[in-house]
Amino acid sequence: MPEKNLITGAQNTWCPGCGNFTLQFALRNAIKGLIADGVPLENIVLVTGIGCHAKMGDYLDINSFYSIHGRTIPVATGIKLANPDLTVLCCAGDGDAYAEGLDHLIFGAKRNTDITVIVHNNRVYGLTTGQYTPTSPLGFRGKSTPQGAPEEPFNPLILMLASGAGFVARSTSRKMPHLSGIIGQALRHKGFSYVDVLQICATYFNVSELYDRQGYELSDHDPSDFSAACAKAEEWDYNSDAPIAFGLFYQEEKTSFEERFSRHPASPGSRNEQIRAFLEMKR
Ligand code: SF4
Repeated sequence: MPEKNLITGAQNTWCPGCGNFTLQFALRNAIKGLIADGVPLENIVLVTGIGCHAKMGDYLDINSFYSIHGRTIPVATGIKLANPDLTVLCCAGDGDAYAEGLDHLIFGAKRNTDITVIVHNNRVYGLTTGQYTPTSPLGFRGKSTPQGAPEEPFNPLILMLASGAGFVARSTSRKMPHLSGIIGQALRHKGFSYVDVLQICATYFNVSELYDRQGYELSDHDPSDFSAACAKAEEWDYNSDAPIAFGLFYQEEKTSFEERFSRHPASPGSRNEQIRAFLEMKR
């Protein structure tokens, strides 16, 4: 059978120069790597939110679920609990993950649900034509803030480290091989894995030059050192002219939510027994 290229024939409506194209091919390459390792394609599920990023579900030829604003993580959690054999990943925008669905992001990390969350962080609401998000810089001028955003951005890496995420990484749509590699690592991590992707919005917030000038790849960094990860994450506050590190900040393997759930006294027996009991329930 010929190798599938995993790209659908759907008409692509992303703007020319959009960083989502890099994400699409980086994700495709990472998924091909999983398949080469023996993961069946039918066992891989993508959940998207709402926004420009969400068209990934139309453009990648894999099982996908188009969810709603900010709700990728609860949907992915349900899929993973129902069938722990699946590899479940979410593509979410910064509006999705850091605003509408922020509580789900925190609880995904806290519970250590075995899913991968990739945030297309273009630091703007692109689909709705340029409003500021929680990671837009102070003074960002857009449709909702013509005089400049009056708020400081927050640092999502610090938030994820504080919430207990076992895999915290950052990459950018300006570095395709790096992004592919980081997504591949995240997909293989057992437990909650989070990747913040500084993605270019070519139309409403094109900061390619900034990421090229300030960005550097982590080296000599021990990802098992929590304090070092926090220090690295604090280096850039999503606002200043400080250096921007790309790479794996922190990694720790610990018991996943699914493992704890299946051991819970309220859910005895094997997964098959649980499913059988559920199906035989009188309704
Ligand atoms: Fe990409 Fe921005 Fe266009 Fe959306 S609005 S498709 S994020 S360039």
